[in-house]
Amino acid sequence: MAIQRPKGTQDLLPGTIEQWQYLEETIRNVCRDFGYEEIRTPMFEATELFQRGVGQTTDIVKKEMYTFLDKGDRSMTLRPEGTASVCRAYVENKLYGQPLPVKLYYVGPMFRYERPQSGRFRQFHQFGVEVLGADQPLVDAEVINLVWNLYQRLGLVGLEVHLNSVGCPKCRATHREQLQKFLATRKAELCNDCQERFERNPLRILDCKNPHCQAVTGGAPTTLDTLCPDCSTHFEKVLSLLAGAGVAYRVNPRLVRGLDYYTKTAFEVMVEEIGAQSAICGGGRYDGLVEEIEGPATPGIGFAMGLERVLAALQVQGKFNKKQPKQFAMLIALGDKAQNRGFSLMSALRARGIPISMDLLGRSLKAQLKAANREGAEFALILGEEELERGVFLLRDLTSGDQVEIPLDKAIEVVSMKHQRGV
Ligand SMILES: [Zn+2]
Ligand SMILES: [Zn+2]
Repeated sequence: MAIQRPKGTQDLLPGTIEQWQYLEETIRNVCRDFGYEEIRTPMFEATELFQRGVGQTTDIVKKEMYTFLDKGDRSMTLRPEGTASVCRAYVENKLYGQPLPVKLYYVGPMFRYERPQSGRFRQFHQFGVEVLGADQPLVDAEVINLVWNLYQRLGLVGLEVHLNSVGCPKCRATHREQLQKFLATRKAELCNDCQERFERNPLRILDCKNPHCQAVTGGAPTTLDTLCPDCSTHFEKVLSLLAGAGVAYRVNPRLVRGLDYYTKTAFEVMVEEIGAQSAICGGGRYDGLVEEIEGPATPGIGFAMGLERVLAALQVQGKFNKKQPKQFAMLIALGDKAQNRGFSLMSALRARGIPISMDLLGRSLKAQLKAANREGAEFALILGEEELERGVFLLRDLTSGDQVEIPLDKAIEVVSMKHQRGV
């Protein structure tokens, strides 16, 4: 049997790759306009980085990592997400010595061993942003505004940012106490996972998708009820900045991120799909993460979005129905000598940035014209032996069918002008 690609991976082929390129280009433009710089970290890291930076208790680390021993018996893992690597690079390269904050973004593949039938990929792609070294609510608002701005440029509609504050270690201790007190008499009614969470991580119980757990925790105290004055002021300021920037948001006290190093702002961007809302971006503040991987105490905030999810939303909303822009020109050379002269002319045009290509199969005039039409070319430059002898070529407008004879020594000038007019 022929070798096939691994389960849960994709070949991105011409025809759809243009959508990826468009999305990635828009991402890079937004990041540049917001003053964010790109970082590229390795696709694999020491396994310990993710155990500490993503968290031993998370599903990602417990069940989904591609972990292997290399030939030196070191445990390595294909990166399942981007934040831990960026924080590691921040510490290792002493980026904290630069003017703060450090505003970074990344785009690239991530790897998780998931069941492919759930519609998820084992190699998928994320765009993410991390801002390190700034604790002001202005940063939270800027990061959320960046996501919002990207979706606006892409033309997505029906968006809503869901926001919460999970507080800081100080006020979360109060919340934990109150939550455990509330749940103590109801513990037996919770699902097995939540029973386990009760001691270790009760906050995550608020996030359980089990409808029974949701009913049981209906009136439970939320982190918003117990925010300390500092966290409360921070949250109010984020909300007022977002309102001023025209971002549609809703406070959702059930939106939690379970790990200790997550602090204050947590958010998701929801998009309307047929009959339901689903998240296409998630992020939040993580003021304890850099210390967790033994860097200097550094506030941080970021988000990640799956590019597959964004592309799916764009497709559902019909943003890819436009036809691809046409290719500019095809050079049609007939015969050996014309081919040589044509190749030289094509090279000179390409050196000037003019998009043009020629037949590579030695086909007939008719077949080459057909190919030019299929490529959607606007012009054909036709050069046969007879034209070559007279020092001319034919410039045919493939839309109107009009054709003019042009001296070969005027070729670059005339074709450049046609191209400029079209741009
Ligand atoms: Zn607090
Ligand atoms: Zn539960």
